[in-house]
Amino acid sequence: MQCKSQWLVFIISCMVYGKAQKNIGAICDDGGFVLEAAFTVAIESVSSEDDPYEAKVVRTTPGDVLEAHYAMCSVLEGNVFGVFAPTNEKALEHVQSISDFLEVPQILVDQSVAHNRNWSAINLYPNHVTYSQAFADIIGNKGWEEFTIIYEGAELLPFFDAIFALQDLEAGNEVLMTVVQLPDGDDFRSHLQTIKKSGSLNYLVNCRRETLETFLQQAQQVGIMSNEHSYVIMNPDFQTIDLDPFKYGESNITGIRFFDPSVEAIQNYVKSINAKVAELSEDQIPEAVTENGLTLSLALMYDAVMLYVAAVKAMALEDGSSVTCESGTGWAFGSTLLNNLKTIATWNIEEGYKETRVIIPAAEIEGSESMKGKHFIVLTALSAPYGMLKESPKKLEGNDRYEGFGIELIDELAKMNEFNYTFDIQADGVYGSLDKKTGRWNGMMEKVMDGRADFAITDLTITAARQKAVDFTSPFMNLGITILYKKPTKQPPDLFSFISPFSLEVWGWLAGAYVGVSLLLFLLGRIAPEEWQNPYPCIEEPETLDNQFTMANSFWFTLGSVLTQGSEIAPIAVSTRMAGSMWWFFTLIMVSSYTANLAAFLTVESKFYAIKSVQDLANNPYDITYGAKKGGATLGFFKESDNLLYQKMYQYMDEHPEYQTSTNDEGLARAKSTEENYAFLMESTSIEYMVERNCDVAQVGGLLDSKGYGIAMKKNSPFRQPMSESILQLQEEGKLTRMKDKWWKEKRGGGACADDDAGSAEAQPLVLANVGGVFIVLAAGSGLAVICAIFEMLVDIWLISHRENMSFIEELKAEIKFIISGSSDTKPVRHREPSGSGSGGSKKSKVEDEESHMEVENNLNAPTPSERSVSHHSRHTLHSRRQSNAVQMARMRKFSKATY
Ligand code: GLU
Repeated sequence: MQCKSQWLVFIISCMVYGKAQKNIGAICDDGGFVLEAAFTVAIESVSSEDDPYEAKVVRTTPGDVLEAHYAMCSVLEGNVFGVFAPTNEKALEHVQSISDFLEVPQILVDQSVAHNRNWSAINLYPNHVTYSQAFADIIGNKGWEEFTIIYEGAELLPFFDAIFALQDLEAGNEVLMTVVQLPDGDDFRSHLQTIKKSGSLNYLVNCRRETLETFLQQAQQVGIMSNEHSYVIMNPDFQTIDLDPFKYGESNITGIRFFDPSVEAIQNYVKSINAKVAELSEDQIPEAVTENGLTLSLALMYDAVMLYVAAVKAMALEDGSSVTCESGTGWAFGSTLLNNLKTIATWNIEEGYKETRVIIPAAEIEGSESMKGKHFIVLTALSAPYGMLKESPKKLEGNDRYEGFGIELIDELAKMNEFNYTFDIQADGVYGSLDKKTGRWNGMMEKVMDGRADFAITDLTITAARQKAVDFTSPFMNLGITILYKKPTKQPPDLFSFISPFSLEVWGWLAGAYVGVSLLLFLLGRIAPEEWQNPYPCIEEPETLDNQFTMANSFWFTLGSVLTQGSEIAPIAVSTRMAGSMWWFFTLIMVSSYTANLAAFLTVESKFYAIKSVQDLANNPYDITYGAKKGGATLGFFKESDNLLYQKMYQYMDEHPEYQTSTNDEGLARAKSTEENYAFLMESTSIEYMVERNCDVAQVGGLLDSKGYGIAMKKNSPFRQPMSESILQLQEEGKLTRMKDKWWKEKRGGGACADDDAGSAEAQPLVLANVGGVFIVLAAGSGLAVICAIFEMLVDIWLISHRENMSFIEELKAEIKFIISGSSDTKPVRHREPSGSGSGGSKKSKVEDEESHMEVENNLNAPTPSERSVSHHSRHTLHSRRQSNAVQMARMRKFSKATY
């Protein structure tokens, strides 16, 4: 009742918390709680655990346009779906202008706006034409020949259209009709007096429910409520008035009602409203709806919520409008939702109630439906090789005009599922992307969502965003994003190509091995006793021994073998021989590898790669411009990615829309063009198709992601399952692979570049992974040689210390000291072996005469302090062929080199 004099804006919104929760809002300016309570009760009754809805209400002062504006904007913030317009004309106009601009449907439940033609409004209040016809029929039935039309506001005049038509003079229907408008305010008595004086006995009354009671009371007071007076009350809430006070006047009062208040469901609804009013009004004295007090607006409120939620469910809408008063464009689903609301069912006088669209119950949505005998519109785009115009000298018609992978796939699916289809072409080649500002999809996606096409097939990528708006079959092809770019250019021969066979890393290791082994040989030479040789074989007992593995000789020896030239130096000791042979083995392998790879480098043309990967493209040292298909999944991938590199690339592409293309073909043309240095980011399957036919371009780098193409259809389509099953079957039978080979490699110039790449294998420098094993063998061999040398040295020292009866440790210390000092390549002889044990010139002398030795030492070789300190500790073996000669020679020799 209170709400009757006030206006109500009812906004249904869907705020998503996670996926499930949808908020439905209302703005009420009644200052009371009844409509708010009715709205909340209705929302609660449609809400379920699986699909929860919540009422959001904003209250405003009646007739305050500014407040209505802010209320509208504030509710719009919460994902608005629809608006119940106010009855106050100014506020209504304002709110509707916002709704119209933002394409947010309004649901109205009041007669005051029956004439509103705004596109965004849908009124559940009985249509004035039908309403008026019903009363014309009642009057006709009553057989009134004279009556007075009493009405309150001008806005109610349309409800008399059919009544006025009763006066049809041509048809001979002469009815005496008087029209009286009630004055403003609440005193109608003078007008009623005038009516009484006119002698009229029948009255057709249309006034607001709030006025109705006063009107009847004053009519009684004026004396026009006797048994000779008849009233027809047009207000649908007439039943809510207490008629008891008027029953004694015995006048005939006729009214209509739209529901039976005694029905249990209605009574429960009234009880729930009252309970909710008590809850909302808290400390205030609660208003209450009496048992018969349910107004049509309250009842329609319930129906409106039911209807609205049914439409939201039918469209499987999950997200609200997401438009605000600041938005520049409207909500994408507004018009579709409104159409849905309008087409659920119709009622009119001629045809009665008619369901125009069956809402598929949730249980059925999940299931599948037979496609047999049905006809579908299949949307495709002219994108080779998925959909192409057939080349034919004859004029082709219908589906015959098209061919391609997608066309053939649909044909196969149609045969399997026995359906018919007609192809429709997406002329602009836009597959569809979501404009986040407007919430609107475009291209093929929009058509599928609108129901203008049943299926969409092309190289349409299954993306998360698209999957929210439509359903996809199982993917029929898998792919990833990569780069299409010109083939690498040939390079002039490189002057220093001899460096190429090994990578820099291997060259480094090689140099390291060379230095390491040379030093090792030097060290082994010093450790291994056998490397200390008599420099003058003719002298039987030399005073000093020489070592061929001087530092310079060690480097020379290793270099000689690396360069396969050899040297005169030949290792003698087991350890040095071991190290030497390992080195020779190493050089053998390295040199052969080098030679083999050098041959490859000299015969294969070297190529210049401006980019080898997406990283190169992003860093862009050669000023390569790049882009992707406008609004395509590839661009979407870069846009959504949280990888910094891809974000940087998206920023570049976003800042340069001129590098985005409308089609893949345009991207190919730009990549091929010599006027432009352009790389095109596209999907691998499409690149495969293009490089089969365009020999001057190639795929660069690997795949950045992995995804698939699917056939799109409306959300919750019952045909998804049969289509997906058939696709999987085609996959298992190998038909999809055969089809791909046919359209990629055979048809339309496929295989043109097959020979082009033959022999274009490239020589690659050998990296450590190729030759690492040889380094390991060398290292292991060197290690063994070191062990061997130490063993040789220890055995030798042990033998001497045993023979000379000296301390092994002291002897070892002296030896190590000599080795470490590294100061000389000459070693003085400290011990002589007992005579008689001599052998060949290269052998150590087995016989040493202690006396002669002492003589040599005393007379010829005055020792330095350090020599002395060692000489009385240990004696080194000497090898000499002829002991006496050696002694004599030694006597004559003057030692120039320092000894220890
Ligand atoms: N397949 C893409 C799509 O569905 C178009 C091509 C691309 O973005 O690379 O949008």
